[in-house]
Amino acid sequence: MKIYEQTAANLSKLLQNKEVSSVEVVQSFLDRIELIEPYLKSFITHTPAMALDMASTVDNRRAGGEKLHPLAGVPIAIKDNISTRGLRTTCASRILENYIPPYDATVVETLKQVGMPLLGKTNMDEFAMGSSTENSAFYPSRNPWNLERVPGGSSGGSAVAVSSGMAPLALGSDTGGSIRQPASLCGLTGLRPTYGRVSRYGLIAFASSLDQIGTISLTALDSAMLMNVISGYDLLDSTTLSEPVPDYTIFLDEGIKKLKVGVIKENVSEDFDPEVTAAVMKNIALLKESGAEVDEVSLPLTDYGLGAYYLIAPSEASSNLGRYDGVRYGFNAGGESIDDMFSATRGRGFGPEVKRRIMIGTYALSAGYFDAYYLQAMKVRTMIRREYEAAFKRFDILVGATTPTPAFKIDEKIDDPLQMYLSDICNITDSLAGVPSLSIPSGISSGGLPMGMQLTASPLKEGLLLKVAGFLERERGHLPLRPKVKLPEGGEV
Ligand code: GLN
Repeated sequence: MKIYEQTAANLSKLLQNKEVSSVEVVQSFLDRIELIEPYLKSFITHTPAMALDMASTVDNRRAGGEKLHPLAGVPIAIKDNISTRGLRTTCASRILENYIPPYDATVVETLKQVGMPLLGKTNMDEFAMGSSTENSAFYPSRNPWNLERVPGGSSGGSAVAVSSGMAPLALGSDTGGSIRQPASLCGLTGLRPTYGRVSRYGLIAFASSLDQIGTISLTALDSAMLMNVISGYDLLDSTTLSEPVPDYTIFLDEGIKKLKVGVIKENVSEDFDPEVTAAVMKNIALLKESGAEVDEVSLPLTDYGLGAYYLIAPSEASSNLGRYDGVRYGFNAGGESIDDMFSATRGRGFGPEVKRRIMIGTYALSAGYFDAYYLQAMKVRTMIRREYEAAFKRFDILVGATTPTPAFKIDEKIDDPLQMYLSDICNITDSLAGVPSLSIPSGISSGGLPMGMQLTASPLKEGLLLKVAGFLERERGHLPLRPKVKLPEGGEV
């Protein structure tokens, strides 16, 4: 087996046993990137020199007998809305095209301390607004399972990199599904942690009360290992939680007897692709056979989730994105007067979806409409949180599909924002409730595309989600972890 085909956990073992060096590991991924990145476009910025530099530092330290972190020397790709000191961080926007942050996000600093080489910054929907990575100001990314399909979004580039063997692990961000939805469409494991579990310091803000950094990986174990690195209290982010961080890997071997599983009626809907629902039900049947207690649960407020989210997230975005005025950050279009400069800079710097959100948000927050829209949406949000609290009195985890369909075609939804918004229908209420949510592969469709299943638990129960994911991986065997990438000129690699 080739190095780039390995899971992060396997790479960790190989490195600790000194069967491979980190430089060899990084080189294997760089070679893979050279081969297939031109077709997939998962990165915005490549950092091969930085990666090799970190790899050789780690190799030297290991050779010197130092005790290193299990992920030391295992490379990673990072979504381009996570700040990296001295390294361009664009949010896939023209307005930040040449922005170089003067500081590292807390998660980046931690990865550096651990010794994880950075392979590059990954493509995304502009400012994380979207579900297909087509809203990138630079280029869309392509799904490695089928190059005519979207990889999902907004963390699409991170998902493509892991799915195609260009990185063993990636960080994404999830505001209303942006880790789970691309993980599902690319056949990966994507974890949105509890709000506050992972520091947002240095994550460029979209909707601050919803944004969370999380993991994109091949397996539950890989996610657990990365969660061990990035979780925890941060003095620089006052919304982080001070509860101690468990070793997430210890949950992986536990059984699931007596686990109370609630199947969310709204997330195995008859309106979904029947193959998606069938795959979820098959996994649920396996949980039941293995001693879990399964029952159906209805979360009727799911129907209002999308409406509430698309008022709250744009409202926060309109405020957060006020800072891009051509003076303080990035692109400046010039102009005769200050007003000219502001409008030319924002007019040319932001893409259509970002402008749409700024307009919706500004409208929803304006005097006279605030009560009718923003405040109303916040009330719905509280009701949704209560609905979850009630459900978690009965159940340990809630399950359903991650997305209503497998990956859709590039260009299929780009001119229809509402259809695009609907692709996160299963993801949004978890975000509004602030609870942890994990997407895992559930099966492969007859068309050869991966499908996903979403597991949700009460706050800080990431371990429970990873336990169930690990159990399913063991019981049913891993689904094919990665596709062979079919090249347009023929052949597959
Ligand atoms: N697709 C959703 C949106 O466009 C969620 C995005 C996200 O989670 N960053 O807002």
